[in-house]
Amino acid sequence: MMADLYRGLERFSSLDREAILSWLRTAEPAELERLFVAADTVRRRAVGDEVHLRGLVEISNHCRRRCAYCGIRAPNRFLRRYRMTREEILAAAEEARAAGFGTLVLQSGEDPELTGPYVAGLVSEIKRRTGLAVTLSLGERGRDDLARWREAGADRYLLRFETSDTALYRRIHPAADPEGPDRFALLGTLRALGYEVGSGVMIGIPGQSYQSLADDILAFRKLDLDMIGVGPYLPHPQTPLGRKPGRFLLAEAEQVPNDADMTYRVLALVRLVCPFANLPSTTALATLANEEGRDLGLLRGANVVMPNLTPERYRSLYEIYPNKACLHETAEFLRDTLENRVNFLGRKIGTGPGSRKK
Ligand code: SAH
Repeated sequence: MMADLYRGLERFSSLDREAILSWLRTAEPAELERLFVAADTVRRRAVGDEVHLRGLVEISNHCRRRCAYCGIRAPNRFLRRYRMTREEILAAAEEARAAGFGTLVLQSGEDPELTGPYVAGLVSEIKRRTGLAVTLSLGERGRDDLARWREAGADRYLLRFETSDTALYRRIHPAADPEGPDRFALLGTLRALGYEVGSGVMIGIPGQSYQSLADDILAFRKLDLDMIGVGPYLPHPQTPLGRKPGRFLLAEAEQVPNDADMTYRVLALVRLVCPFANLPSTTALATLANEEGRDLGLLRGANVVMPNLTPERYRSLYEIYPNKACLHETAEFLRDTLENRVNFLGRKIGTGPGSRKK
């Protein structure tokens, strides 16, 4: 039975660049349907019917970086900045536990005020009070901080490499320290420290080619990631990329579109090449395509949803892109409506931490 399962999955997980490119580009609805059915089948056989909920808390929108795509970049002077207090974060953690979520995700801009010792204390207090799995997504931090947080009990770290095209990456993501480690090196450090490691890319970045997107998918396989987040790039007017996309865009035949259709293709392909990874149906996808988009994500490879638990007064300020599809979610509302939707899809809400199945 197990041998059978592996043979079945093997057939897809060894997809090569040409095959991936042809799935990304096909205009044949029947071909695409075959891709989506294969992804849903592999998802069911590899990770089952459980949909894991991760409560997302955006703890600070202060950021020292100047990423060309991101609305909370340091130079955006039109944004009111906030930093949640320790008590507010602990209350959100409690809310996640009470709602039955297995994981709490703490995300922020790259905020130097979130010091190594402060975050370590926060993580150990959350673990002590709630026992939840804790995922951190606080940007590029030094090895010492990452090690300290792991020792304090952090289970997972999310750091998207955004694109595997190094020239494009350099253009949209100016380095904080040109001598410092890049995101691939940091992913290696996180792995060595014993974190479950998550990464991912944006889909349809101006300047992103089909070839480079195929390489992104191959990079996921090579990195053997535990979690992979892929969502459409959404333009923010207060960013260089949002203001002047024309300067970055490729010729139409080469440029990846930033739409829901392309996101489903990538989700499905990622499921095929990384059968056991945890894959969220992302908020960026729901922002483009509403609940239907989130459901289709779950039907085309995804097995995770990350409901937003940031206090409502801060939520609109964590504006990495405009009109985020979470502005009125609350833990209980989420738990009930999401559970109905998930059951309707023939799935069930996952219990426990929902770590990667190996
Ligand atoms: N400071 C952290 C968290 C950033 S927000 C970090 O850099 O890792 C998390 C993710 O949101 C980013 O990794 C990026 O992939 C995505 N993101 C940022 N701006 C976006 C935009 N305009 N459209 C879509 N996704 C975006």
